Amino acid sequence: MLEKIVFKDKLDGLLDKLGREYGLFAPVKDGIHTVWTAVFKAGDLDWNFTNTDLSPKGFLFPQTECMLVFENDPGSTEGMILKQPEPEDRPKALFNIRPCDAKAFAVLDLVFEQDPEKPDVYWKEKRGKTLLLGLACNNPCPACFCTSVNCGPHHTDGLDILMQDLGDRLLLTPVSPRAEGFISDLDHASEKDIKLASELEQKAVGMIKGRVNMENIQAGSIIDVFEHSAWERLHESCINCGTCTFYCPTCHCFDIQDETSGVYGRRVRNWDTCMSPLFTLHASGHNPRGGKLARFRQRFMHKFKYMPFRLKGALGCVGCGRCTQKCPVNIDVRHVVNKINNN
Ligand code: SF4
Ligand code: SF4
Repeated sequence: MLEKIVFKDKLDGLLDKLGREYGLFAPVKDGIHTVWTAVFKAGDLDWNFTNTDLSPKGFLFPQTECMLVFENDPGSTEGMILKQPEPEDRPKALFNIRPCDAKAFAVLDLVFEQDPEKPDVYWKEKRGKTLLLGLACNNPCPACFCTSVNCGPHHTDGLDILMQDLGDRLLLTPVSPRAEGFISDLDHASEKDIKLASELEQKAVGMIKGRVNMENIQAGSIIDVFEHSAWERLHESCINCGTCTFYCPTCHCFDIQDETSGVYGRRVRNWDTCMSPLFTLHASGHNPRGGKLARFRQRFMHKFKYMPFRLKGALGCVGCGRCTQKCPVNIDVRHVVNKINNN
């Protein structure tokens, strides 16, 4: 039996053990928001959140990330000096990450490490040093539809350990070998606890009422989906604010800029959004996605058609529901996908 049990009032021992090797972060309440922050003891943890406002993708793919620093002193005989930024010294453990957000990391692994010979080194370096301890959802939020997109409230993709909240205790299932050392000295779970965890999982799955249907999107050609007549109506209320893309745990577009001060400078990449007209503006002035419809369509085509095509079927959506909850004009991703799925 692999599953272990730890009582919540004894959790400090596990956190101390983790904290010796990792910087510990977890979701905590901050007024009406739930945010990721450093935690040090079990008393800091929140057991009643549905999901964090911002996803944890920023830990591995920061909103602004320094790629290199440079010095270009015209008086120097050395020419331009380029240096890699120092890597973060302390690995991180993300405690109580939701399964959908861990699954998003697994999706981004496919994106950033698509070519194993030439991975995105910034992502890979941090990803290899980050431990993911997931907290299964017992009460999924109303906007969630994870079960429609190859995910679920107890899904383990991307995780090192899955934890299930059984009230006064947690059931821990190791998913990756590197997690086992942290829980090896905990008590084995009883059959009763494993049965309870399974019942809670069934209950959580039953609570997810939102669904998206994608059979026709998946079966149809890219051109057919691209030319669907419903885009015309669906895009109208979108104001291209980009909120959906910044909250999304799988959106990963970025823009690269050089910031200079005197002879010093740094090259950074910043999150970008396909909702912005500038995103695709060419130097010539031509813009292949100059209209709002084209930009609105792109977000959905990318997630539900182009990414599965390029990444062996992987969808660019884990069903977290954030884009639906945060959209200022109430555009619901489930509604859009279901409409496009209708022939
Ligand atoms: S959040 Fe809503 S309005 Fe803003 S870009 Fe996304 S779909 Fe459009
Ligand atoms: S598209 Fe929306 S529901 Fe899907 S992962 Fe992104 S934010 Fe979550």
